Amino acid sequence: MYPRSFHYHRAGSLEEAVSMLGQLGEGAKFLAGGQSLIPLLKLRFANPEHLVDLNFIPGTSFIKEDSGALHFGAMTRHAEIEHSALARKIPVLHDCAAGIADVQVRNRGTIGGSLAEADPSGDWTNALITLDTIVHCLGPSGARTIQLRDFIKDAYTTALAHDELVTEVEVKIPPQGSGGAYLAFKRSAPVYPSASAAVQLTLAGDVCQDAAIALGCVGLTAIRATEAETALRGNSLSDKTIATAAEAARAAADPQTDMRGSAEYKRQLVVALVKRAIQIAVRRARGEQVEGAHLYA
Ligand SMILES: Cc1cc2nc3c(=O)[nH]c(=O)nc-3n(C[C@H](O)[C@H](O)[C@H](O)COP(=O)(O)OP(=O)(O)OC[C@H]3O[C@@H](n4cnc5c(N)ncnc54)[C@H](O)[C@@H]3O)c2cc1C
Repeated sequence: MYPRSFHYHRAGSLEEAVSMLGQLGEGAKFLAGGQSLIPLLKLRFANPEHLVDLNFIPGTSFIKEDSGALHFGAMTRHAEIEHSALARKIPVLHDCAAGIADVQVRNRGTIGGSLAEADPSGDWTNALITLDTIVHCLGPSGARTIQLRDFIKDAYTTALAHDELVTEVEVKIPPQGSGGAYLAFKRSAPVYPSASAAVQLTLAGDVCQDAAIALGCVGLTAIRATEAETALRGNSLSDKTIATAAEAARAAADPQTDMRGSAEYKRQLVVALVKRAIQIAVRRARGEQVEGAHLYA
């Protein structure tokens, strides 16, 4: 189906984009990579009267390191992150970017658009919530920063005002002795995961000093599996400890039965994904180079 007709506007700066959206009102939307918005327009689930295109604003696509953090411009494409040597400093980011859909979607879709969309099946929120992530925003009253955990309010709902933009995503580089992994289980490449797990660990010798575990696609937003994290913290990471954490993650999951599988099937996926992600995270924390590819049915 073709989208309903709309007026197309091209913003020349972030400030202009914000002011355009304010002037055009509730019937206007920002357009980034279009990989969520355009399908919704074509299905006529979204019918904006105006689209304000962010794609021609200079300086909005970048990856840089500064003050112990990696900074991503909102318009940075998934593929740019996938191929960035700098982003590999935080392996969870590479795992996530490289596993999103197919090459066409990765070439167009942006990190800023993904966070703004807050799709419960999207990969970025789940991967980034295990890290110290700050979302930089710009609205009519100026710039502000929001911790990612406060930015995502609900499924498809963020802390952004209607005329407020994501401008940058800042991810603190984890300390020495840290390792992470992000794994998703998918029916095929160009579909969203059936379930996913992100793990970030900090080790002191064999003992887990700190742990963050997040589950994706098994709730209305990414779920932090806090009991599973507690099962790891302060313990050496034996098979038994890892199995206990994975079972705690199963209990934290809150999946729905849908076309991707039954709720029970997804809980079982969570157990397997968390175990594997912990195992990869431990090896990476010890300095090994490990590829962590998504799993396909
Ligand atoms: C076939 C297919 C498969 C996909 N599979 C996956 C997958 O497996 N995993 C996954 O994570 N994603 C997947 N996606 C979605 C893809 O990652 C999108 O790129 C992403 O969700 C949205 O980013 P975008 O840049 O395309 O945003 P757009 O579609 O342009 O915009 C999405 C929403 O965010 C708003 N917006 C965009 N940018 C900003 C900004 N900077 N500030 C404020 N608001 C903004 C827009 O107004 C719109 O409401 C898939 C998409 C398709 C078409």
